[in-house]
Amino acid sequence: MIDLHAHSCFSDGTDTPEDLARLGEEAGLTALALTDHDTVAGVPRFLALQPHLNVLLIPGIELGCRFLGRELHVLGFWVRPDDPTFLDRLTLLRTRRERRNVRMAERLAATGRTIDLEEVREAAPGGLVTRTHFAQVLVRRGHARSPREAFHRFLAEGAPAHVPMEELTPREAATWIREAGGVPAIAHPGRFAAGAFVWDRALADLRDQGLEGLEAYYGEHSRVQEASFLDLARRLDMVPCGGSDYHGSAKPGLQLGRGWGSLHVPDGVLAELERRRPPNPR
Ligand code: AMP
Ligand code: MN
Ligand code: MN
Ligand code: MN
Repeated sequence: MIDLHAHSCFSDGTDTPEDLARLGEEAGLTALALTDHDTVAGVPRFLALQPHLNVLLIPGIELGCRFLGRELHVLGFWVRPDDPTFLDRLTLLRTRRERRNVRMAERLAATGRTIDLEEVREAAPGGLVTRTHFAQVLVRRGHARSPREAFHRFLAEGAPAHVPMEELTPREAATWIREAGGVPAIAHPGRFAAGAFVWDRALADLRDQGLEGLEAYYGEHSRVQEASFLDLARRLDMVPCGGSDYHGSAKPGLQLGRGWGSLHVPDGVLAELERRRPPNPR
């Protein structure tokens, strides 16, 4: 069993990279990827535990993109955490995030929920402020009963305080990841679109933009969705990957490796992904 999607306290998870790595071994995983949003700051600490642990630790990333006017997340596996161009690009994304955070606070104030951006920043000890941290402060200040409700009422796409991330295309994300030595994959496709959405053409387009993997195995996918994404991946010559999207206590009840209980990402995925690693590192 492997888990190719997990967050540390360097983005919106709550575990340190070291604790995450140890937890991966305890959970009986053969491989675990750290995929923080827009930062690889936790990766050196994560990889430093490799000699002591019986689980393969993989440096990764998760980037938020826009595709067909909606939010699509892209994962990258084996990105080099010291690649100067990649680091510059991630810095740019975090600068955009800061602008977005100011606008989200303004939108919240316009709905009558004034929150202090400093308090939100303090909720993000790793320095990367996401909507998860806004949700935590909204709950603390009594504007919502749970983070889930905070998203639903204020922060989710279509809600009054939602501010889309500034444009990053899947093609850019894929290029950035490949140029940093990584393999780009589409995260949680079931979150992008469920139900009647016809994936075939959209997915062929994304593959042509450089996306090599598809996160078919994901805790929020039904068995039917999982089977359908597996089939799509096979037909389009993409690698079906998967992970829990573990966030520590920021997503209570969700376990590393097992997700909400029944997730199981087969080991064989890893070798397939490895074969897609770019041949010539710069
Ligand atoms: P951001 O990167 O700032 O847009 O924040 C996105 C993060 O918010 C995701 O990575 C999830 O961890 C979290 N998130 C998104 N939607 C929800 C939701 N409906 N309920 C709880 N957390 C969510
Ligand atoms: Mn997150
Ligand atoms: Mn995501
Ligand atoms: Mn994630």
